[in-house]
Amino acid sequence: MGKITGFLEYERETSKEVSPRERIKNWKEFHLPLSETEQRKQGARCMDCGVPFCQSGMMMGGMVSGCPLNNLIPEWNDLVYTGNWQQAFRRLKKTNSFPEFTSRVCPAPCEAACTCGLNGSPVSVKENEHAIIEKAYKEGYAKANPPAVRTGKKVAVIGSGPAGLAAADQLNKRGHLVTVFERSDRIGGLLMYGIPNMKLEKWVIDRKVEIMKEEGVSFVTNADVGRNCKASRILRDFDRVILACGASNPRNIDVPGRDAAGIYFAVDFLKSATKSLLDSNLEDGACISARDKHVIVIGGGDTGNDCVGTSIRQGCASVLQLEMMPKPPAERTGDNTWPEWPKVLKTDYGQQEAIAVFGSDPRVYQTTVKEFIKDSEGNVTKAVLVNLASRKDPESGRTVMAPVEGSEREVQADLVLIAAGFVGCQEYVAEAFGVELGSRLTAATQADSYKTSADRVFAAGDMRRGQSLVVWAIREGREAAREVDKDLMGYTNLF
Ligand SMILES: Cc1cc2nc3c(=O)[nH]c(=O)nc-3n(C[C@H](O)[C@H](O)[C@H](O)COP(=O)(O)OP(=O)(O)OC[C@H]3O[C@@H](n4cnc5c(N)ncnc54)[C@H](O)[C@@H]3O)c2cc1C
Ligand code: SF4
Repeated sequence: MGKITGFLEYERETSKEVSPRERIKNWKEFHLPLSETEQRKQGARCMDCGVPFCQSGMMMGGMVSGCPLNNLIPEWNDLVYTGNWQQAFRRLKKTNSFPEFTSRVCPAPCEAACTCGLNGSPVSVKENEHAIIEKAYKEGYAKANPPAVRTGKKVAVIGSGPAGLAAADQLNKRGHLVTVFERSDRIGGLLMYGIPNMKLEKWVIDRKVEIMKEEGVSFVTNADVGRNCKASRILRDFDRVILACGASNPRNIDVPGRDAAGIYFAVDFLKSATKSLLDSNLEDGACISARDKHVIVIGGGDTGNDCVGTSIRQGCASVLQLEMMPKPPAERTGDNTWPEWPKVLKTDYGQQEAIAVFGSDPRVYQTTVKEFIKDSEGNVTKAVLVNLASRKDPESGRTVMAPVEGSEREVQADLVLIAAGFVGCQEYVAEAFGVELGSRLTAATQADSYKTSADRVFAAGDMRRGQSLVVWAIREGREAAREVDKDLMGYTNLF
């Protein structure tokens, strides 16, 4: 701890944001980083607690508290304060394969668990991380570092999201020859075709993938394993396989009128927006567009928020975001104390933008769709909404959200985006390798292991744990790599 009185002397400062009205004019990231001097003061705010909750990554009350990667946060906070940027980079990379992604998209459970946050504002861990990695690129030491020795072992990674990339990066560093197979036309999984450009500009992914290529990782795109690319050939050509195919089966809304045109799953909508932006700077007209449409987003979570921000940038006429659950409290309640993840109301970037453009928060709580109404050509035109109230289910005894009779009303809807979560992985790829699925339709693995029911086949990321976070996907990819390495070599020195 370099500056003992840092947390007393300096207030928390974070990057400035471009105003909502200005940033919706483009698809760029909108955070303006602090100056180096300011960022170093933010590093000085870290108290280097004896028990650093920020790096614990433990489950508490069903949510994670602290960093799932166990990042060495107090260490590099201090190195930021003292200006030892290169050493801070080395310590950050020790546990985190992709700080360039997490420092942009992570919800920062580290900050929620920071001791400074118990009675004040937490240390700006995520932005310190961002400063370290971006300085490393600027100064040239985040460069390719290929392994000195090759083991001659070959590993196939199926899926190029953060889990697959983390596994590939670790195994390649260890000297194994790694090939990543991706069914999409671009590498990155949901980093590329899920999270919108304004949250994570896509050159950030390409920059890292280029380094991985220089280091020796091979990438094959448009390879849909189990369909146009045979699993049996992969098993023949590689010593081990890691399945990191995500959990991309969307949860549907099964109500009358669901078959109307103009109703899409959120990721299809978000993917089309990013693809068109990258392919043609939106010139090809190939995306699902919200222009001049009344948009209903079903789902009050982060994916729904991304749909709101994207619809606004496309010029929608209005946007409504439906959430089944009650509005969260503004502050922590007595049964949700620090260092648990705070279950409080968060107004994210898309919602801020909706407030700036339309004058009100797009979220409507305890509400769902009862029916979609279509015109004579089969296009959705309206949605019948209904209020929900919590009640005890007499059979299961569980609390459920049930429709309130007589609360139905119609709203205009020309575009409906379903962001109601995901129900496991797609079965065909698991079937192709003979991998059994568990009850949540995710790849089943042995206890405390990433080994599946199929010989030489491992699974990691959302495909194993269900829809989660980038930081968890990276952790799973790294842990699966460790296990594969041990399986191949009889021991492992991967961290
Ligand atoms: C819209 C959206 C926004 C999100 N925003 C955030 C956020 O801001 N912060 C955060 O932490 N998390 C966010 N998440 C969650 C996060 O993106 C995921 O938890 C994470 O990407 C999971 O990583 P993964 O590598 O396991 O899977 P994925 O990222 O889903 O990648 C799986 C890859 O496997 C490929 N694949 C599948 N089947 C095959 C096959 N048969 N052959 C070849 N390739 C195949 C897919 O095409 C895909 O590229 C978001 C999720 C969504 C849907
Ligand atoms: S990866 Fe996420 S949780 Fe971990 S230090 Fe970075 S921002 Fe915090």
